[in-house]
Amino acid sequence: MILPLLRGLALTLKHFLSPSKIVTVRYPEERWTPYPRFRGLHELQRDQDGKEKCVACGLCATVCPSECIRLEGAENDRGERYAEVYEINMLRCIFCGYCQEVCPEDAIFLRQKYELASDKGDGFIYDKERLLTPLKKKQ
Ligand code: SF4
Ligand code: SF4
Repeated sequence: MILPLLRGLALTLKHFLSPSKIVTVRYPEERWTPYPRFRGLHELQRDQDGKEKCVACGLCATVCPSECIRLEGAENDRGERYAEVYEINMLRCIFCGYCQEVCPEDAIFLRQKYELASDKGDGFIYDKERLLTPLKKKQ
């Protein structure tokens, strides 16, 4: 009975005293580098002209198992659809990546960003402006 407990403690002690096996980082001075397939915060994409790629088809909101995407579509004066409202509630998102997989326009990707702390509840509702990639400055 006591033997497995002692084995467990010995293993813990071994890892504790072995500096080469440190798995924590001194955040925020040091940043963790995510694995290549890590799914973090979302990013709405633009095409090369800076136009939003999302056409508000609603597939991402339909497939989302957490129902955390709020989308309202509209049409511009050329009859093109776009998302007038696009919000993700990050407190409900489980970062499954289904929204990225289902998007027919490659308009949404989960990136390697993982810092989403906020001291306000609504700080976790990411609106379109926050999700969109910034416009590239013209040279
Ligand atoms: S990652 Fe999953 S849970 Fe999060 S918004 Fe996309 S589909 Fe919904
Ligand atoms: S992000 Fe993609 S799947 Fe979601 S509404 Fe826009 S075009 Fe459709």
